[in-house]
Amino acid sequence: MFDVAGSDKVDTEVLRVLLAKKCMLYVACLIAFATVVRPMFVEQSMVFTYIGVFNSCLGLSFYFYISPQIKKVTLSFIIIFYSLLALVPLLVISGGVNSQFSVIFPIIPIFICLLVYSAKAAWLMCVMLTVLVVALLVSEMHLPNYTEEIVSESKTKSRAFWIVLSTILSTIFSVEFLRITNIYSTRLNRQANMDVLTKISNRRSVLKSLYQIHERSLLEGEAYAVIMLDIDFFKRINDQYGHSVGDQVLVHVAKILETSLRTKGDSVGRYGGEEFLIILSDVTAEQAENIANKILETLESAPFLFKDNSITITATVGICCSEVGQLSAPETLINHADTALYQGKKEGRNRVICCQH
Ligand code: GH3
Ligand code: MG
Ligand code: MG
Repeated sequence: MFDVAGSDKVDTEVLRVLLAKKCMLYVACLIAFATVVRPMFVEQSMVFTYIGVFNSCLGLSFYFYISPQIKKVTLSFIIIFYSLLALVPLLVISGGVNSQFSVIFPIIPIFICLLVYSAKAAWLMCVMLTVLVVALLVSEMHLPNYTEEIVSESKTKSRAFWIVLSTILSTIFSVEFLRITNIYSTRLNRQANMDVLTKISNRRSVLKSLYQIHERSLLEGEAYAVIMLDIDFFKRINDQYGHSVGDQVLVHVAKILETSLRTKGDSVGRYGGEEFLIILSDVTAEQAENIANKILETLESAPFLFKDNSITITATVGICCSEVGQLSAPETLINHADTALYQGKKEGRNRVICCQH
C-alpha cells in the first residue's frame, strides 16, 4: 500500500550526486587510459605522463570523497576545482590557447550545469575560462611549449577568440537547456503529486506527507492525527444526477476540505474514489475531533448547487491519533482510522468516530 511513497525516499538530489560521482570516475579512468596508451603512438615529454597520473589520482580521490550527504555548493566547487586543476597544467605545457586540449574548454560549463543544476556555477566557470584564455594569450611567449609547434601570432589570437566564443555560447545553451528541463521536471512533479480531478494532493502525495509528519513527530515528540473521510451515499448522487455531477461534487468537497484545514502542517489528499485522507500535525485527539466535526458541519452547510438542484453532502469520518512516545507506524494509524470510519457508517453515517487503540 505504501510502496509509492517509499520510492520517493530516493530523492533527485541524491541521484544527481551519484551521477556526478560516476562522471568523476569515468573522467579519471579516461585520463588514466590516455596517459598509458598515448605514449605508445606519440613521442611525448614525461611531463604529460606526470600530469596524467596526477589528474587520474585526483579524480579518483574526489570519486571516493563525494558522498550523497555532500552539499550542492561543495559539489560545484569540487567540479570547478577539478576541471581547472586537471586542464590548466595540460594547457600550459602543450601550447596555451593553441593546445589541442583547449577544445575541451566549452564542455566544462555544460558539465557543471547538468551535474549540479546551477546556472550560477556555469557562468562562474565561463568567466574563469575567459580570463584564463586571455591570460594564456598574453603569456604565450613565456610558456614552455613541449609540442614544439610554431603557430603565427594572428592564428593564436583567432583561436583564443573562437575558444572564448564557444565557451560563452555553450554556457548560454546549457543554461537555457537547464531552464527548460527544470520547467518540465517541476510540471511533471506537480502532476505526479496531484489528483487529476480535484487538483488536491493524490494518494501518493498525501502518503508522502504522512511519512514526513510521522518522522517529524518522532523527532519532536508531538502527536498527529490521521483522518479518513468518506462521502455518504455518493453512489446515489452518481445514479441520480450522473457521473459528471458526481465528479463536480468531489471537486466541491475537496475545496471545502482544503480551506477547512490549518494552513501550516496539515495535509489533505484524495485517497481513492470518494475517500479523502487528512493528516493533522501536532494535535491532541480532542483537537482532531473538533476539527473533524467542524469539517462535517461546513460540508453539510455548503450544499453543492447544480442548475435548480441543491445537493446536501454529508460524510463520515474515522480518526486515529498517534500517541506521544510510542508512535505507531503510519500504516497502523490508517488501518485504525479506516475501522473507525466503517463503524461510523454502521452507526448511521454523518459522524466522527475516534479509534480506541
Ligand atoms: P457509503 O455511505 O457507504 O460510503 O456509500 P457510498 O455510495 O458513498 O459508497 P459506495 O462504495 O457504495 O460507492 C462509492 C461510489 O463512488 C461508487 C463509484 O462509482 C463512485 N466513484 C468513485 N470514484 C469516482 C469518481 O472519480 N467520480 C465519480 N463521479 N464517482 C466515483
Ligand atoms: Mg461513500
Ligand atoms: Mg468509499
